[in-house]
Formats: sequence, structure tokens, C-alpha cells
Amino acid sequence: MKKDAVFIFSEEQLGYSFSDSHPFNQKRILLTLDLLKKSGAIVDDDIIAPRMATDEELLLAHDNKFIDIVKKAGKGELQEDAGIVFGIGTEDTPIFKNMHEASAMLVGGTLTAVDEVMQGRATYALNLGGGLHHGFHGRASGFCVYNDSSVAIKYLQKKYGARVLYIDTDAHHGDGVQWSFYDDPTVCTLSIHETGRYLFPGTGAITERGNGTGYGTSFNFPIDAFTEDDSFLSIYKTAIKEVTEYFKPDVILTQNGADAHYFDPLTHLYGTMDIYKEIPRIAREIAEEYCEGRWIAVGGGGYDIWRVVPRAWAHIWLAMKKIPAPTGPLPQDWLSKWQEQSPVKLISTWEDPVPLYEPIPRKEEINDKNAQMLSKALHIIRHQQLN
Ligand SMILES: [Zn+2]
Repeated sequence: MKKDAVFIFSEEQLGYSFSDSHPFNQKRILLTLDLLKKSGAIVDDDIIAPRMATDEELLLAHDNKFIDIVKKAGKGELQEDAGIVFGIGTEDTPIFKNMHEASAMLVGGTLTAVDEVMQGRATYALNLGGGLHHGFHGRASGFCVYNDSSVAIKYLQKKYGARVLYIDTDAHHGDGVQWSFYDDPTVCTLSIHETGRYLFPGTGAITERGNGTGYGTSFNFPIDAFTEDDSFLSIYKTAIKEVTEYFKPDVILTQNGADAHYFDPLTHLYGTMDIYKEIPRIAREIAEEYCEGRWIAVGGGGYDIWRVVPRAWAHIWLAMKKIPAPTGPLPQDWLSKWQEQSPVKLISTWEDPVPLYEPIPRKEEINDKNAQMLSKALHIIRHQQLN
């Protein structure tokens, strides 16, 4: 019987771990799953273990030499600094034990999600272990070794002949995925992110629209620092609607970084839990309207793993299960279990406290600037016919 949604998870996904002090911490998946369990929103039968991606699959989007370096690094066989030109052994992406296997497991999780949806066993599939959007063809970058979305899109093309729309709402530009398909007219990438003026990776300008026959299938929506919910959501809703209508995908892959929140320590956006409640519900509606429901979702960034990510990511699953967004207190047993470990006071409700921060004096200016950016970024759709 076809399921509405499946949740890809096994403890092996937690093996992707740089160090205890590194901001990228997969404990957030455990926190999210436990929140869903204690909320009565998920049962064991909804959970599917990921498989490990094979070398052949990784080669769809990665260089052989790079894969070899990652394997050697994880086995402690790499000469000192030999990984640096491949982005391995840097401050962002340090070497850790079995890093090839752990990284290939995250990719395999997204491939598992793809197969569940494309073979019709589930309408939606969620792999929170994925979303490593900064991984390049031959180089690790920004906490990302292998790029599960890039591999998954190639796999979707090759195995299913699918036309894929990739939607990235992480606060950082989805550069790795964009550059992988920059020349490819059968894949469309859409990224909403904090402008690269002061934030890694610095790319993602509206003028990055694709190359050659792929021109017009790369969309970037760089928003200003201090952008709040209303402006973020208005850009997201308009962008996703117009780009989907224009591109007409067979399937949607969304990257759900949860680092656009006010509490996130690495970025400068002022989102609240309200954006994370809305983002997946709108993605689901779009998938239903244009793709017979086919929607695969992955995780991504998110560095306040205690107060932000569990609630934000729980909303993706709740949207997939069509459970109305919960309000009020979080389950008491979840709060008491994790408060013991958390270095910060947990937020005890599904909603953020109001007000979460002092009003921003430049609000109107920022919203205007974002609105102008949106219209320029969509210029190609609004003023050209797609042939
Ligand atoms: Zn990010």
C-alpha cells in the first residue's frame, strides 16, 4: 500500500561528525525525530533505513580522484595537507574517521528517498541527513563532503528520466547544486539566501541565471541581512509559484536548511518559526499542483540545534503527513529529556516567543530592496516566452 510519507533515518547517519565543537551537528536529527515521536506524529513503520551510495552513484556528480582522497582521509592514510586542494582537512571540513562511509550514507539516504517516491511507494520522502549543498564535483566545501542533492538529481535523470526542480531555502546559497547543473536545461535550481555580500559562499547573485542551453534554469533570490518573516515568505511564495509554472518539473527536491532563523549563530537573517511552518506546506501544495505530489525533502544547515532545528524540521514531516501545524507547549517529556543536555534554555512552545527581538528600524527599506530584487530575479520569466 502506498504511504503518504516516509522518514529516512538510521543511527548510522550520526556518523557524519567532524568534532564535538564543530557547528555541524547531526544530533539535531535525533532531537527532531524524538520530538515527532513524543508528539505522536511518527511511528516506527514510517521510518526507512538509508542505504550507502555506491562509488558508481557518487561518480554521477563527483570526481574519482576526490572520492579517493576522502576514502584515504577517513582511513588515516592521507599525507599531511594532501587533502587541502580537495577541501579536505580544512577548518570547515576537517578529517574524521570513516568520512567516506559516513558521507556516502547521507547520499544513500537521499537516493533511498528518491526511490521511495519515484517507485510510488510513498508520495513524499524526507531525508534530514541530506542537504549538503556546498559539495562540489571535485572538492568539499562549507561542512559538505559529497553533495547528496547533486547525486540524487543525476540519479533522477538517469534512472527515471525526470525533470527536476531543486528548491533551496537554506540561508546560504546552494552553490554546489547550482554549479553542477548550470549548463543543464533539464534541471532548474532555485535558491533563496542571505546575500553573499557578507556571508559564505559569496555567490548567488540574481545574474547567475545558467549557461549555454541551461540559461534561464538557475534562479537566485539573495535577500538582505535582517530580513524578517513577511518579506522572506512573500519572496518564497512568489518565486516557487512562478518558477514551477515556468519550468514544469516532474518532481521537486527541496533543501531545508534551518539557518535563516534569528537565533542561528552563523547568519544574519531574522526569520522565526513561522517561516519553517509555512515553507514545507507551500512546497507540498506546489508538488501536488504540478508534480502529482512527488516531493523529496532533505535537511541542510541549521546551527541552533536546540532551540530552532528540531521544531523547524518537525514541521516538514508534519506537512508531509498533512497534520495541522501544532500550537502551544511542546511535549513535556521531550523538554525535560533534552533540557539536561542543552547549553541554552529550550523554547517550550511550537511558536517562538513574541517578540523574539527588538524591532528593526530599517524594516521598510529592507522589504523594498527585497521586493525589487524579486522582480529583477524573475525578469526572465516575466518577460520571455519559454520555448
Ligand atoms: Zn546554510
